[in-house]
Formats: sequence, structure tokens, C-alpha cells
Amino acid sequence: MSKPNFAPLKLFITGPTYIRQDVKEAGLLPEFGHRDKENDLRFVPIRENLRKLAGCGDDYEPILCLGSGSTAMEASVRSLVAEDETILNVSVGSFGDMYYNIAASNGKKAENLKFDYGRAIDLNVLEDKLKELKPQVVSFTHNETSTGVVNDMKAICSLIRRYGAMPLVDGVSIFGGADIALSESGAAMYSTATQKSLALPAGFGIGFVSKEAEEKAARVTNKGHHHDIIKHLDRARKNQTLTTPNTTLVNMMWYQLDRIVNEEGIERRFARHAEMRGIVEKWVAGLDGFDMFAPEGYRSPTMSTVLCPEGVTAAQLKGTVKEAMRGHGYLMDPGYMKLNNQLEEAGRRLVFRVGHMGDITPDMLTEYLGTLEAELKKL
Ligand SMILES: *Cc1c(COP(=O)(O)O)cnc(C)c1O
Repeated sequence: MSKPNFAPLKLFITGPTYIRQDVKEAGLLPEFGHRDKENDLRFVPIRENLRKLAGCGDDYEPILCLGSGSTAMEASVRSLVAEDETILNVSVGSFGDMYYNIAASNGKKAENLKFDYGRAIDLNVLEDKLKELKPQVVSFTHNETSTGVVNDMKAICSLIRRYGAMPLVDGVSIFGGADIALSESGAAMYSTATQKSLALPAGFGIGFVSKEAEEKAARVTNKGHHHDIIKHLDRARKNQTLTTPNTTLVNMMWYQLDRIVNEEGIERRFARHAEMRGIVEKWVAGLDGFDMFAPEGYRSPTMSTVLCPEGVTAAQLKGTVKEAMRGHGYLMDPGYMKLNNQLEEAGRRLVFRVGHMGDITPDMLTEYLGTLEAELKKL
């Protein structure tokens, strides 16, 4: 058998994320049968710890869909938008557009309300759209990974509800890195994934389903099989998954969630993420010609987007800087390609992203930024 030639890069991208050695080793725990009582030993604590991280008690039921974040998002659309209804997707970037594309490609009557890259959702603009379109369902992105903007989930859900619509939230890149206070959020269903702020490999789309969403889904037709949240809920209440889970990932998840809740502590984990946002802000403030891309007050705690000085090109970021960082043992994120292409075409300053989610520590981040600074200064 040949030996792999894989580079052991530290991932500073925005997902998948760096995985701790002890979490990797938990993948060596015994495989198990998913309809056997051994299954419960993993999934009872997994579901309990997910609820703690979400801050939702019994108000929401966590479901685990084999797939990734977009699988849970697709399940929300298939299960919660009835055939004669309209969904309004609200987008502040590429992942907002993705929710729209999921709805449209499933044949839903969908409209996309787009805000400029780098902006958060403007409640006045959204309100006008709600009045005009009168949608039954509205989706939006909690933490927009293409721009580093975090939206005010509670305020947006509250506005959507004032117009009688049901809010669906994509929280893929923030869950596990910030307090989402789900019970007070107003979201009908909240979707996330394992490979971002939970610092696990990809493999599950995680959905938090409210009772109200469950009642509605019971009336919606043509939900398919894997996108039917009712089928998932039936299994979830038995602490099982609808289809065969990735048992390696389940073992890692059991370990990682227990470690987060009982060893690191939820509050400390959230504080660590906020601290890392501050580290990037401070670093950028000390760098000539660089600025934070997202407006103050809307900056993500799990990733940052940095505006480069005029004249820096996408080729330099994707080629020179990223490859130099690879030489230092890092996988760097040279910016969301579609965004940088648009910015470059418009003659505007480009951005790069710094993922600081999951199990990256302030020390690791400081070291990374120091190395990156030296490479940026060579441009
Ligand atoms: C990564 C991401 C997704 C897509 O998730 P997958 O797990 O790749 O399906 C969706 N929304 C946001 C905000 C993301 O960051």
C-alpha cells in the first residue's frame, strides 16, 4: 500500500475547521448498531448537549440528518413551505443566495431579497418587502460566511412574525461559537452543521425544530423522504437517526460535545470566540491600509473578513499569500471567490477571511496572524 503524501495543514478557513487530536482519537471508539441500545449511549448525551449549546431546553427537538448543513436547510424548505405558499429568502451574501437556490430548485415559489455584500439585513427594507410580497415563510442567514456579517436573529424573527410569516434560520457557521438563545429567538427551525464551530468533520445537518414547525410540517405534502422533518422527529424522539449515521462521527461528536459542555464550558467557549474577534480587530487596526469589512456591531465571532489595501489583487491573495502560508503549515482563506471577483471587477478593495471558529485558540490565532502579517507585508 502506498503512503499518503498529505500535508498536515492547520485550517484557518471557514469550514471545515481544525480538529483537535483528542477529538480525532474519539473516532477510534467502537462502531455500533444504530438500532441497538449502544446507540442510546451516544445519542442521549449528544441530544442533551446540543440543547444546552442552543439554549433551548425542550422548546426545540434536535434532529440529525445525514449530510451537511444544506441538508438540514433543504429539509426546512421541503417540510415547511406548502405547495401554494411563497417563501421570501433574505440574503446578505452567498449563503443567503444558497437558501434561495435550495427553495427555487425544489419548485417552491421563492423570491430573493438581496442586500449588498458586507451589509446586514436592513429591517426597514425587509418590512417593505414583507408588506408587498406577504410570504408565509421567510429564510435568512444568521452568520453570513462569505462576508463575516452576523445578523440580529431575534429582531429579524420578531419582524417576520409581526407579518404572520414563519422564520427559518441558517446558523451553519455560528452554532457552537456563540450564544444563540434559541428559545427566545423566534426561529421556527434553525439549521446548522458539524464541521464549522463545533470543530468536527462534516457529516450531519443539524436541525432544531419547534413544536409550531412540527405542526405545520404534518400538513405539508411532498416532503420527500430524507427532507421530511416528521420522519426525522419520529426517530429523534427514540434517540435515533432516520438513516444509518456515520458511527465514527457519532463517537467523535459524543466526545466533543461532552468536552465542550463539561470541560471547556459553554460560556467560556463563547467568550473565547468573542475574544478572537477582538484579536483580529486589534490586529487589523495596527495594520496600515487594512480595515475590517463588516460594520461594527455586525461582526461575526467565528470568522473575520478583512479589507486589503488598494492594489492587492485576487491573484496575489490566492497565489502568493495562500501558497506562502501553506509553506508555513497553514491553510489560509484568500476570500470568498465570487465576492472578490465582483469587487475586483468594480475596481474595489478585495477581502480575505480569517476563520477563528471551533477549537482554534487565541494563542493559535495570534501566531497565525503574525505569520500572515509578515507575508502580507511582502506584497
Ligand atoms: C458552510 C455553510 C453552509 C453550507 O453548509 P454545508 O454543511 O456545506 O452544506 C450554509 N450556510 C452557511 C452560513 C455556511 O457557512
